[in-house]
Parts: sequence; C-alpha cells; structure tokens
Amino acid sequence: MCAYLRPTSQTEALAALAQRSLTVLAGGTDYYPSKVGKPLLDDILDISAIASLRGIRDAGSHWRIGATTSWSDIISAGLPPLFDGIKLAAREIGGVQIQNAGTLAGNLCNASPAADGVPPLLALDARVEITDTAGSTSVALADFILGNRRTLLRADQLLTAILIPKLAHTAHSHFAKLGARKYLVISIVIVAATLEVEAGRVRAARIAVGACSPVARRLPQLEAALIGKPCDASLGECASVGLLAPLAPIDDVRASREYRLDAGLTLVRRVLGELGARV
Ligand SMILES: Cc1cc2nc3c(=O)[nH]c(=O)nc-3n(C[C@H](O)[C@H](O)[C@H](O)COP(=O)(O)OP(=O)(O)OC[C@H]3O[C@@H](n4cnc5c(N)ncnc54)[C@H](O)[C@@H]3O)c2cc1C
Repeated sequence: MCAYLRPTSQTEALAALAQRSLTVLAGGTDYYPSKVGKPLLDDILDISAIASLRGIRDAGSHWRIGATTSWSDIISAGLPPLFDGIKLAAREIGGVQIQNAGTLAGNLCNASPAADGVPPLLALDARVEITDTAGSTSVALADFILGNRRTLLRADQLLTAILIPKLAHTAHSHFAKLGARKYLVISIVIVAATLEVEAGRVRAARIAVGACSPVARRLPQLEAALIGKPCDASLGECASVGLLAPLAPIDDVRASREYRLDAGLTLVRRVLGELGARV
C-alpha cells in the first residue's frame, strides 16, 4: 500500500522528506503522464495544499514566485512588462486544465530539455530557492538544471520559490515556440528574450533557447553583440548562426539537428525584431 501525504505547512512537508523517501507532487501534470501503463508504487508527498508556497509577491529587490504557483496564476497576475515573456509561455502550456494544475516549479524540477518555462526564466536571470530542514539557499536557475531530467535537488529538499531580480532600467521580455502544431505539443525550439533599454538602445540583453541542447542555454555572444544597438524592428538582423553557440541540437522524431538550428535562428530573429519594435 503506497503512502499519500498532503501536508498543509512547509515545515511538515520538510520533516516528512527528511524522514523517508517520498516523491514530491505539485500539479501532477508531468508525474502522472509518466506513469501511464505502470503501477503507481511511489509514496507521495503532495505539496499542493501548502498555502504559503502559492502566489507571486514583490519582495523588494526581487519578485518571489512560490513553488505551487500555477501557470494560470501567472497569466492572471498583474505584473510589469518584464514578465510578458513568461506570461506568453504560460498561455501556451497544454490547455486550461494543465495551466490550472501545473506549476512553474514543477516544470523546472522535471527538467525536460523542452520545458517551456526554462528559457523565459533564464532570460529573467531567475534563481531558485531550495529548502530543507536546515534552511534555505538560492542558486541560479542556470546552475540548478544539470541535464536531461537532472537537477541539483536532493531527495530531502524542496524547490520552494523562484526569484526574479528587479532591474534598474526599463525592461521588456518576449517568448515564442515552434511545435509541429499550435497547441498541446512538445516544442521543437523555444526562444525567450529580455531587453533592458536606455535612451532607445539596448543596455543589456538576455536570450535563451530551449529544446536545442540537453538544457536550455543563454546565447552570450549574441547578447554581447546586441549591446548599444537601437531598439527597433531591425534588431533581429543582429542574429546569425555564428552567434548561436553554445546550442547543440539533437536529431529526434520531432526534428533534425539542421532544422532545429535553422528554426532556432528564425525564431531568435523574430523574437528580437518583435521585441525591438515594441519597446
Ligand atoms: C496535456 C499536457 C500538455 C503539456 N504541455 C506542456 C507544454 O506545452 N509545455 C511544457 O513545458 N510542459 C507541458 N506539459 C508538462 C507539464 O504540464 C509542465 O511541465 C508543468 O509545469 C509541470 O508542473 P506540475 O506542478 O504538474 O509538476 P508535477 O508533475 O507535480 O512534478 C514534476 C516533477 O517535479 C517534481 N517537483 C514538482 N514540484 C516540486 C518542488 N516544489 N520541489 C521539488 N520537486 C518538485 C516532482 O517530484 C516531479 O518529479 C504538459 C503536460 C500535459 C499532461
């Protein structure tokens, strides 16, 4: 007989995790589909009833997104233009039922190369808060995801929040993904970008691409090339194949390596052009 625990406090959840091996469940929208046709033998720690883990708040130097905050919570939250990219991503996750149940934190912990939440959060320079019974620490999202379905989390730890630093200058973000159809699809390429703008020019840029390497990656060479460029629809022309390092797409059933690189460049150009025209 499997155990099913549904604590209402973080302290209770962490104490349970410290005592025994439990599978953490938030919305279950990655977990249950992975169990189709298999027996459900895991002892479950369902964190969805921990009210303190839900919601988005202004924490002074940064925004704090609690671990059980759903995609729908993101869509309906009143947030500055910096969050436009993650809101666009949220609207394209599955359908409304998946957006209501699924969480951003679950998307990160599942660590799929095609997770739509990872590129927009990398482009926001997000950190994740990791908590165990000894306390909390935070790490950059870029260091949290180690590879395909691998993260830094130990079995006795929870990801308790996603932290988004506030920026000194006006900043806007954007998101686009390519799949074989419009909805309910695993992405072939995902692109997210954040631009900090000063006097009509790019002050800083963060571009991240997903589904084109085992872990979504920022594009440091392209980011450097964009600094000082005028913000307008021509911004996309700064992107070239040579500036797409360190992407390393794979061939799989959804697309070939060459197609992914070509589509990646097209999508990067489109996202930058649309963002440049908007800010
Ligand atoms: C029909 C359908 C469509 C989908 N469409 C998309 C899509 O378009 N794009 C996309 O990226 N994904 C999609 N998904 C995948 C999924 O909905 C998302 O990844 C979702 O964000 C997962 O969140 P969850 O809360 O349901 O995670 P869960 O399934 O509850 O958990 C996922 C994993 O993370 C762990 N975990 C969860 N929360 C924590 C925590 N706080 N601390 C420690 N570990 C934790 C769990 O142990 C588990 O291993 C889809 C899924 C379905 C079924």
